[in-house]
Amino acid sequence: DEMDVGTIWQDGDFVDWDDATVHVLTHALHYGTGIFEGVRCYDTENGPAIFRWDEHLDRFYQSAKPYDMEVPFSRAELTEATLELLRREQLRSCYIRPVAFYGYGSLGVSPKENPVDTAIAAWPWGTYLGEEALERGVEVMISSWRKYASSQVPTNAKTTGLYVNSLLAGEEARRNGYTEAIVLNKEGQVAEGPGENLFLVRDGEIYTPGLSQSILDGITRNTVIELARERGYTVYDQASISRGELNTADELFFSGTAAEVTPIRKVDNVTIGDGSRGPVTKELQQAFFDLVERRTDAHEEWFTYV
Ligand code: PMP
Repeated sequence: DEMDVGTIWQDGDFVDWDDATVHVLTHALHYGTGIFEGVRCYDTENGPAIFRWDEHLDRFYQSAKPYDMEVPFSRAELTEATLELLRREQLRSCYIRPVAFYGYGSLGVSPKENPVDTAIAAWPWGTYLGEEALERGVEVMISSWRKYASSQVPTNAKTTGLYVNSLLAGEEARRNGYTEAIVLNKEGQVAEGPGENLFLVRDGEIYTPGLSQSILDGITRNTVIELARERGYTVYDQASISRGELNTADELFFSGTAAEVTPIRKVDNVTIGDGSRGPVTKELQQAFFDLVERRTDAHEEWFTYV
């Protein structure tokens, strides 16, 4: 089991992997009232380093806000816990999963009598959509499930319960032979992938759905925008992209902590561009991996060395 590494940090203590358990009446299990992060640590030329930890922590605490959830640990405590965990487990290249959730207390929907439980796990993790996907790109399906609207739930919060939508979209796509889904928002415009943001390249310019399109404000999205602008590209980061524009794009790609920068070669069996990784995608993907593996000095401020 790839997740079978020794220790998990739970509510202030390092506990054995198999002992990091919760009660079956945990509030979050019933109502999806947890918030979480997905973070990567890269085995860089200068040693293992967590990529954009500060921004992930920012989003973690922001995600808790709509739910009136007080994360009972400070930024410094969560940072120290994570660094200590990675050192103990001697992890170099890994995925880090902080989670906070309403725990065991009352079972009313109101969580006023429930503690907030916090945990951090980490495990080795390779590419999300496959090594080949990074080079050749993936085939995606427009999901028949729409993304929930920002008027219905806070879409800018990374809440555990909201991932049923991601599961439905992703599994539908895989049942139909695709690698991943693209989800449209309630208005029918392009939102994002189940766990990725989406970028479109047309006539040498770059477009990505804006925050008003009910997307998660992805940290990789933000990174790609910055890398692209530094390389002289015009990036429209508050775009509204219609479904049809996907088919006529020169290039499409996903961004995400898990997916990193992954080209999209087909949408609903329509070939995008010439059906291979396009030149802009390739340049930005290269820039991304040069950055996170520290083959450049740029953006040293984005790295927390273990
Ligand atoms: N959208 C959704 C719905 C996601 O779950 C993720 C993964 N956190 C992303 C976009 C990409 O965000 P990030 O680049 O911060 O991982």
